[in-house]
This record gives sequence, structure tokens and C-alpha cells, in this order.
Amino acid sequence: MAVPFRRTSKTAKRQRRTHFKLQVPGMVSCPNCGEMKLAHRVCKECGTYKGKEVVSK
Ligand SMILES: [Zn+2]
Repeated sequence: MAVPFRRTSKTAKRQRRTHFKLQVPGMVSCPNCGEMKLAHRVCKECGTYKGKEVVSK
């Protein structure tokens, strides 16, 4: 197995990790209440989808 020639510097490690995202991809803000929700799914905060379709709480 190949072994790294030199230790990865703190800066190089941190620069690589800037691409690690904090949030799960596919999260969008609800147009009704503004809460973050999964795309293409009913909002769990206000129970709406595409404007109306209400899910009773
Ligand atoms: Zn909502």
C-alpha cells in the first residue's frame, strides 16, 4: 500500500474540508413558513405542499 510522502499540512487539510457541507443536500426553505424542509416533500412545520395541500396536525 502506498504511504504519503509527507504529512498533510493543517492548511491543506482545512482547505479540503471547506467543501464538506453542514446541511443535507436537497434542503430548501418552505415558501409558506420559511422553515427548512426537504425538497419535493410536504413541509413538516406547516403541512403544506405546492401552496395548499394541507396535512392535518
Ligand atoms: Zn412550511
